[in-house]
Amino acid sequence: CGICVKRCPFAAINIIGLPGELTEDKIIHSYGKNRFRLYGLITPRDGVVGILGPNGVGKSTILSILSGITTPNLNNLDEEPKYETVIKRFSGTELQTYFEKLSKKEIIPIHKPQYIDALPKVVKGTVGELLKKVDEKRMFNEIIEVLELNNLLDRSFDQLSGGELQRVAIAAASLREGDIYYYDEPSSWLDVRQRFNAAKIIRKIAENKKVVAVEHDLIVLDYLSDNIHIMYGIPSAYGVVTHPRATRTGINTYLDGFLREENIRVRKSPIVFEKRPPINYTNRPELLNYSKVSKTLGNFNLTVEGGTIHKGEVVGILGPNGIGKTTFAKILAGIIKPDNGTVSAKEVKISYKPQYIATDFDGTVRDLLMSVANINTSFYKSEIIKPLSLEKIMDFEVKNLSGGELQRVAIASCLSMDADIYLIDEPSAFLDVEQRLVVSRTIRRMADEKEGAMFVIDHDILFQDYISDRFIVFSGEAGKIGKGSAPLDKRSGANKFLKEMNITFRRDAETGRPRVNKEGSQRDQYQKEIGEYYYTE
Ligand code: ADP
Ligand code: ADP
Ligand code: MG
Ligand code: MG
Repeated sequence: CGICVKRCPFAAINIIGLPGELTEDKIIHSYGKNRFRLYGLITPRDGVVGILGPNGVGKSTILSILSGITTPNLNNLDEEPKYETVIKRFSGTELQTYFEKLSKKEIIPIHKPQYIDALPKVVKGTVGELLKKVDEKRMFNEIIEVLELNNLLDRSFDQLSGGELQRVAIAAASLREGDIYYYDEPSSWLDVRQRFNAAKIIRKIAENKKVVAVEHDLIVLDYLSDNIHIMYGIPSAYGVVTHPRATRTGINTYLDGFLREENIRVRKSPIVFEKRPPINYTNRPELLNYSKVSKTLGNFNLTVEGGTIHKGEVVGILGPNGIGKTTFAKILAGIIKPDNGTVSAKEVKISYKPQYIATDFDGTVRDLLMSVANINTSFYKSEIIKPLSLEKIMDFEVKNLSGGELQRVAIASCLSMDADIYLIDEPSAFLDVEQRLVVSRTIRRMADEKEGAMFVIDHDILFQDYISDRFIVFSGEAGKIGKGSAPLDKRSGANKFLKEMNITFRRDAETGRPRVNKEGSQRDQYQKEIGEYYYTE
């Protein structure tokens, strides 16, 4: 593409069109000769500025620069980077003032980093002690309540799950008094309710402070942001920041795949949210019949209503963390025997992608995929390898894969098996926005073409809305009681789930994608009044 390596094999996939205006003087930061280069930067502004883009194009680098952790080197690799030079470079723009103040410590940036797993190693004491210590805003009680941290206050950091740690990290950042707040991927590991509660806190901070947030869950990003910057590029090679767009048009542009002003295509074809007619079950063969099942594990008690699953359908499973979704998947997969109830009268073959993926496979990605399917068919190449971008990592050792790579390989491996039922537990975890869109399309296509049916557990509602024909909704009390519904038609299921979340949806007029109504807006009030939380048309 003329920017990185001369004949870049990925240019045709990622970028169609020539970002020819990307000249060296536009580089804001480079990690070294022939290493990643960042073109452009964002200007923080009032409200929430969202950043939308695939992994590896410099989103975290931007937050690191703006929060003063990294001093941008402007591609001058021979000298130590200095703010003086940076200030000169941005002369006459708002960023000049920003870096002047940042260098004199007249701006206090607060940063919730993307990677929070190091926190337990550096923070001593209990969750409550830390949060009390950083409570400069005197909002301890409010934030603890909204982020549901009350029963974690006495815990030490090494006893927290991913989702718990995330909420503590968001609380710690939000309690501090600063001038500008940076939240890097706040919804990772959180369930739907927790995502919206975190978003509410972030929006509250933005009432009188500037906020920048990186987010891959498009419904959360949409709800959270006032403006967004789309980023594009070639992962690990370079990333480009585009001008700010109003959130709605920005997300629609991204889904469309073509950035008109920049003349850049980020995807070959648009993602369209079609209104799918409800499945006519009468002429579809039954695949799986299960009765009401129950299971007790320690103090946790699970009951799920029975159901019948048909060929070609995708059943989305929705519900909070800790409420038995994975346990139900394991019961269906035959890994856990239910105390009461039976799963199937006849033999069905199950392909299962667990939530927590084991990395103990000895060999390469190619070895792994070859052990489950014939990967040399054109169908396999076009439906799995290509959309999941596995070409580049085919010869990597499975043990050395990153979270997102491992997830894509696990999804590919699950979908490759010849089975009647595919059980896919939290496929969107660790995936970036683009991979989520691609995976959802792959899952939907495979369901339409295969003889099998699918159960998909996931917290990304845009993803679920796109792939699912019906929903099973879980509710109860985390760690104590879980109740799963029978498979419900899409509207009843979504309605039941959204009612528990207390959010209402509308359809975007242009793309058909789901959008969350503003709490208390006329539409929100009306939909709640008539009990229609999902879009009604
Ligand atoms: P994103 O947040 O969009 O996923 P990052 O800003 O984390 O992207 O990283 C962009 C690219 O820069 C990555 O592909 C990575 O290869 C490279 N990179 C990030 N941090 C460093 C570093 N400290 N040293 C060298 N390269 C880095
Ligand atoms: P979800 O997938 O909805 O987040 P899980 O099915 O993983 O929930 O777990 C539901 C509850 O069951 C959790 O509180 C978990 O701690 C508990 N649990 C899961 N497996 C076991 C087990 N083997 N022994 C005791 N408790 C368990
Ligand atoms: Mg990042
Ligand atoms: Mg689970």
